[in-house]
Amino acid sequence: MAGIGAVEGAMSDAMFEDMERQGELSDSILFRMTSIFKRSTLEASLALVDKGYVQKIVSDSGRSLFLVESSQDDPYVCFKHFCPCHYFSYNVINKMEALTCKHILAARIANALKRADIVNVTNEEFSKWLMKQEPMKQYVSPNKSR
Ligand SMILES: [Zn+2]
Repeated sequence: MAGIGAVEGAMSDAMFEDMERQGELSDSILFRMTSIFKRSTLEASLALVDKGYVQKIVSDSGRSLFLVESSQDDPYVCFKHFCPCHYFSYNVINKMEALTCKHILAARIANALKRADIVNVTNEEFSKWLMKQEPMKQYVSPNKSR
């Protein structure tokens, strides 16, 4: 059975494709977004994008993940349908009260608008990160004030 996540996925995939094609956040896309996502999540994600808090890590083989800076020490490692933040586990997965968190939304917006800092790494580095054998901290963009 298609759950709420699948519906959101189908709607938002098309929307992010439009966003990427247009290269900007037009009023009509913003309007569509407000009908899919919670306003608070949307506003928080746009703030993350504006602050340059999204990085896209791309391996030699073309696989990618996103690092989104957080109030924690380490940035969150985000994928299209997963974020390790508390909000995602609790509100998205457990309670199903939200469709996504601000980190994933920020990653997808930044990606579509090409506003994510691209960091190219080797396949070996990429795999070590995924297995958490190396800290991600060193890759946090230097413009973040701590
Ligand atoms: Zn999150």
